[in-house]
Amino acid sequence: MPSESPKSRGDIKQLGARIDADPELRRAWVLRAEQRGLAVESGVPGKKLVRMVLDRADQAQVRTNPIARDEAFTCVQCGRDVPLGGKRPRDHCPWCLHSRHVDVVPGDRAATCGGLLVPLRLEPGSGSLDILYRCASCGAAARNRVLDDLAVPDDPAAVRALSAG
Ligand SMILES: [Zn+2]
Ligand SMILES: [Zn+2]
Repeated sequence: MPSESPKSRGDIKQLGARIDADPELRRAWVLRAEQRGLAVESGVPGKKLVRMVLDRADQAQVRTNPIARDEAFTCVQCGRDVPLGGKRPRDHCPWCLHSRHVDVVPGDRAATCGGLLVPLRLEPGSGSLDILYRCASCGAAARNRVLDDLAVPDDPAAVRALSAG
């Protein structure tokens, strides 16, 4: 994780030039951007990449805490009616595990994209097992925890299929 926090335009320009010259540094900044839910095009200039990350950091200071927003919805992928989670927000379909890119921070509904979040693989989260997603529209990365303890839990076969894939 890069530790630089460039503030001035000169700093950003300089760091951008280093990112353009150093693939390792670029990868670190792309990762940093993706962890903030940003979509990074492969040829984006280093300077722009730094700006994207800094802009998002500013926005994140407005709100960083997830909001427990539990809503019933119709799955855009499989068309089934998904009920409320109950003890936890139901943020993805229990049957096909797909979700929608509607949040910047969980529950804030601040993302304007609305694209389909496609489940890719499982990864250990903090005290949970997480599903990693990529948005089919904008390419942003996202994660939701596996919901196996709700009245309508995630389909174990679908979760298994994900860990095998
Ligand atoms: Zn579904
Ligand atoms: Zn998206």
